[in-house]
Order: sequence, then structure tokens, then C-alpha cells
Amino acid sequence: MSNEDVRRRDLRALWHPCTQMKDYGEEGTLPLLPIERGEGVWLYDFDGNRYLDAISSWWVNLFGHANPRINDALKDQVDRLEHVILAGCTHEPVVELSERLIDITPAGLDRVFLADNGSAGVEAALKMSFHYWRNVGQPQKIRFIGLSNAYHGETIGALSVSDVPLYRHTYEPLMLDVINVPGPDCFHREPGEDCADVARRQFAHMEQALERHAHEVAAVIVEPLVQCAGHMRMFDPEYLRLLREACDRHGVHLIADEIAVGFGRTGTLFACEQGPITPDFLCLSKGLTGGYLPMAALLTTDTVYQAFYDDYEKLNMFLHSHSYTGNPLACRAALATLDIFESEPVLERNRELAAHIARRLEPLNDHPHVADVRQHGMIAAVELVQDKASRTPYPWQERRGLDIYRHGLTRGALLRPLGNVSYLMPPYVITEEQIDFLVDVMGEGIDIATRD
Ligand SMILES: *Cc1c(COP(=O)(O)O)cnc(C)c1O
Repeated sequence: MSNEDVRRRDLRALWHPCTQMKDYGEEGTLPLLPIERGEGVWLYDFDGNRYLDAISSWWVNLFGHANPRINDALKDQVDRLEHVILAGCTHEPVVELSERLIDITPAGLDRVFLADNGSAGVEAALKMSFHYWRNVGQPQKIRFIGLSNAYHGETIGALSVSDVPLYRHTYEPLMLDVINVPGPDCFHREPGEDCADVARRQFAHMEQALERHAHEVAAVIVEPLVQCAGHMRMFDPEYLRLLREACDRHGVHLIADEIAVGFGRTGTLFACEQGPITPDFLCLSKGLTGGYLPMAALLTTDTVYQAFYDDYEKLNMFLHSHSYTGNPLACRAALATLDIFESEPVLERNRELAAHIARRLEPLNDHPHVADVRQHGMIAAVELVQDKASRTPYPWQERRGLDIYRHGLTRGALLRPLGNVSYLMPPYVITEEQIDFLVDVMGEGIDIATRD
């Protein structure tokens, strides 16, 4: 089997996610990459080439591909119980996982509801928040507040609280009536401002929206600290503190979508810890299973749980379900992932790796077409612009970020960009030498992408 064999068969049968398939067709300019196996940070194709997975396979992988500890846990579990219905049944992996998630997440989150991917977890949070208010006699709270440039997934509800035009625009007629508020994106700082200043300045928009709409709003939803799909734009934890206080004051839930930033990405185990705040709902997925299997966990408070705990005849219960809820294999992958966090100094090591990334990316600030180099822990992004002084972006049709991607493939690095933003969000098992390699390749790619 060669790359070409797999590629040809794929292009006859598959429809890829987030993809204009013509880019990979006869006249396309992008190569489809057939991967035969993975090991640690590396992905290997069928022709014997390898690629460093700089983006953790869409931000899911934490401890490398084919991680021996996670592999062993799955092999053990598959011979015991592959799956069982979670309505009316339970099993040890799902109980242990729920207990441990309650232990490690911010204090006050005492109940775990499971779904089978990030978008489904967000949908469950939106429905549960609305349903809570209905159960406590406030059925008029039917709207949600989201931030500009937010991304919460692709299903209709999750997309409705999102604001990335590329994903949302086409489906506008299908969207819920969501209140979108200008966010605290630190890219838009004025001279002399730091990110905390931007957070405080921009919070006025949120305060205004809450004053006007709190009576009809169930929840505010945010991605704490980093809007990953929104071009890795970042903000200061000050915004989380202000938001928590305001949501309490206005009687509105706070949903923290840590699907991308949870499990150590931003330097703390959860980004909310940097507030520190406890949200009313915490959405987890992606890194939850170490990048092995799809699963989402929605954590909430006992207050929310108690509003659903009632006599059957009242019909107050949360009748939301997914067939694969609490899948034992996914739970075991998640437990093995938590074991690694517990037995190794992961966050400490990440702090050193993050400092190394910062040191190595720093010189790119001087590049004539780099507008911003930003970082929160193990997420670092470099934003390209046509004109540095005015921060005029390149016309999106030029797709310059893809030049970096194509160059990366020739050098053995998988650097899939977000528009004109090139970023590193690597597995935590990366070494400093491998970071050096990625930054070198990214720098070369940026030179190529901005040549004319
Ligand atoms: C990826 C992501 C989602 C959606 O998760 P899926 O598993 O892809 O449906 C939701 N919110 C955030 C912040 C994400 O990064």
C-alpha cells in the first residue's frame, strides 16, 4: 500500500470535514495525507515519511499517539465490556471517571453528565441551563449570550452561540436568536493598554447586555482565555472574574466551554482556575480521552441537579441522551489520561516547554509581516498581516497560511493553519529540540508565505 493507493480510494469514497473537496481533486493544490500509524508526536505515512503533529490532531492529543499507558488500558477494557446502555445501568469506569472529574475541576462542580462529542456537550449545557430556569419557575429565560469570534461547535445550537463567520454565515437562517457581545480579544489593544485593560474596557458591553436582557437570558457561554477556532485569539483572566461576578448579580448562568483549553493547555489544569472562577456549567471534551475516543463531560452544580430531582409525574427530568453515553472504552482512555497527569509532573514540564516556545517565537515579533505573537501556556500563535503598521490583513482569498502548511509537509511538520494564523498546540510529550524544529519550519514557511 502506498500513499497514492490510499489517496485514490479515499477521494472516490470520502467527504472530509471542514474541507472544500476540490482542493484535493484533479486541479487541487493540497495533498491529502494518508497516515499509516502514529507514535508519540510523530505521524507516519505509507511512503515512509513522518510528520510532527504540531496541532495535536485538532487539539485532542495530549500524551502522544499510541501512548503505551492508554493503549494498555484500552486493551484491558475491550475484553471486559465494550459498551452498555447508561440509562438504568452503570459501570466502574464511568463511576470512577465522574468521581475524579469532580475532584479535579473547580470546587462546586459536583455532577457529571456525559455526551459523545464537544458539540453535543455544548448542546446539553444550553438545554440544561434553559431547563433549569424553567424548572424553577422562570420559563421566560430562553436566550443565550455569546462573545464575538466565539466557537462552540457545529450543531445548530452550538453554532448559534458561535460567531466565526466562515462556519456560521451559510446557516444564518437556521440560527437561534442569540445575543452576541463584543469580546475581550487582546489583539485589539490600544497603545499603552495591556490585556487586563482590554478585558475591563470590553466588559462594559457585557454589563450592558446583561442589564438589558438578563430577564430573558438563561446563560452566557465563553471559551476561557483562548478562542481557539477563532484564530487563537486570547484574553486576560480578568474578564472571567468580571463575568462570574456579573452573572451572579444578574441571575444568569455561566457556561465555560473548556473543550479546547481544558486539561493543561493554558498552564493550569483548567483555564477557569486562572480567574479563579467556578462556572455553573463546565464543558470538557477533546483532551478528555487523551485524543483517543470521542466523549464529552458536562459538569454542573448541585443546585442545578436538585432542580431536576423530583417526582416522575412532574416531568422535570433531563430527557437528553446519546446512544454511546459513558462508553466504557472512552472512560478507560480518559482514566488512563488522568493517571498520567497524576503520576507525572505534566503541568510543571509544560511550563518549561511553554517558556521554551516563547523564547523561540520571540524573534518573529520583528518579522515585517507578523502582527502578533501570542501565547497562553501550550498554545502559541503567530498572526500574519499584509501591512504591519495598520494591521491590514492579507486578502483571505490568497490563503497564505496554506503556504506554511505546504512547506511544513515538505519538512516533516504538520502545521495546519487557521487562515493567516500559524500556531503550535503540540502534544505535551514534545521535546525542546522538536519545538526548535517546528519553530524553524514555521519561520521558513512564514518567509515563503509573505514573500511578495
Ligand atoms: C472543538 C470545539 C468544540 C466542538 O467539539 P467537537 O467535538 O468538535 O464537536 C466546541 N467548543 C470548543 C471551544 C472547541 O474547540
